[in-house]
Amino acid sequence: MFRWETWLILLPLCFNHCRGTCSVGAYADSRGPAKAYDDHNYHHGCVDLMRRQVQNEFSAAMQYLLMSAHFARDDISLDGVAKLFSEHADEEREHGKKLLEYLQMRGDAETSASGLSFSPMLDKRTWADAEEALRDALDMEKKVSGSIKKLVDVCENFNAPDYHAADWLAGQWLEEQLKGQRKLAGLINSLNTFRRDHEELADWMFSNQLLHEE
Ligand code: FE
Repeated sequence: MFRWETWLILLPLCFNHCRGTCSVGAYADSRGPAKAYDDHNYHHGCVDLMRRQVQNEFSAAMQYLLMSAHFARDDISLDGVAKLFSEHADEEREHGKKLLEYLQMRGDAETSASGLSFSPMLDKRTWADAEEALRDALDMEKKVSGSIKKLVDVCENFNAPDYHAADWLAGQWLEEQLKGQRKLAGLINSLNTFRRDHEELADWMFSNQLLHEE
């Protein structure tokens, strides 16, 4: 049987033991957590701009969703045009996710807490016709291409350039942007040619054509 004096001795021992166990904590190594990035290949200015690009991609996705919702309205019912913009919204969302994954691969620790805010890129909810929306889409894509170009400049031109990020952005992203711009410009011009003298019929036929495209 322990006497109360024995507890007085054992309690501080137990307390010290518990504190000892807890103080081992997450990083037993005094060097702290290991970092994926290295100073030779990582530039904070480049990464900051890439984070802002995530914002651009999701803001473009939101704007395309509003375009899609507009043309899917029962009193407009250009379902093919709605489908086109819905696909664009999916693409932009995928771009945002891909950029986030890239930043995480590079060891960006602030990605999820960088205070990004998202709102529709053009803050626009209605369009007079499909051509107006397509022209807005083309303007938006050119804006995004411009911001990627600026991003490549920043990633390449600092004293400690991040060639991997610059190459990835210029090779994969700009290529896709430029192809997208070509497709939208072609659609605008085809629709414009159709619309001469029979605008509503042209919009309906154009939309049906898009509806059945893979
Ligand atoms: Fe994009």
